[in-house]
Amino acid sequence: MTVTYIGLGSNLGDSQQILTEAVHKLASLGAIQVSKLYQSPPMGPQDQPNYLNAAVQLITDLAPLALLDELQRFEQESGRVRLRHWGERTLDLDLLIYGDEQIQNERLTVPHVGVLERDFVLRPLLDLDENLYIKGQQLKDLPILQNPDLTVLDAANWANL
Ligand code: ATP
Ligand code: CA
Ligand code: CA
Repeated sequence: MTVTYIGLGSNLGDSQQILTEAVHKLASLGAIQVSKLYQSPPMGPQDQPNYLNAAVQLITDLAPLALLDELQRFEQESGRVRLRHWGERTLDLDLLIYGDEQIQNERLTVPHVGVLERDFVLRPLLDLDENLYIKGQQLKDLPILQNPDLTVLDAANWANL
């Protein structure tokens, strides 16, 4: 059993519905906990809608690449199409943390690149465990969290678990 964290994002279609379905699919892979639901401005191209973001803690038996296979299958099932780098998408599922493993191969970099610089990833992660560390860095101490560019949309049981 490994404690993993998945980042969820969507800015195309009925994003709250798409994220809700993704949470229920993740629940089929192990025991989960879900963060609050957030809204954030887009990263990269600015001519795209705001994002909805969340994070899930998943305790699973799946190996890293098997878990990535599942995440990518769920992205495909949401109808994800690659339009442009960091462009709009129905569903993005990033494997943020896999236990205390550091992984670097053709398909997978874990911890996920950019975690430490992205408030829309850090804030939901801290909902799940406010004492999380990545590579010796305590996440809640990161300066970027002092002026987060995101808002809480739903603090309750938004995914209807
Ligand atoms: P970013 O990775 O900067 O958040 P993105 O989510 O838009 O950008 P994608 O197009 O969704 O990027 O993914 C591109 C590739 O990233 C995937 O094909 C996947 O193999 C690879 N990848 C590497 N590390 C990870 C990870 N930790 N989680 C998910 N995908 C990863
Ligand atoms: Ca991403
Ligand atoms: Ca991704």
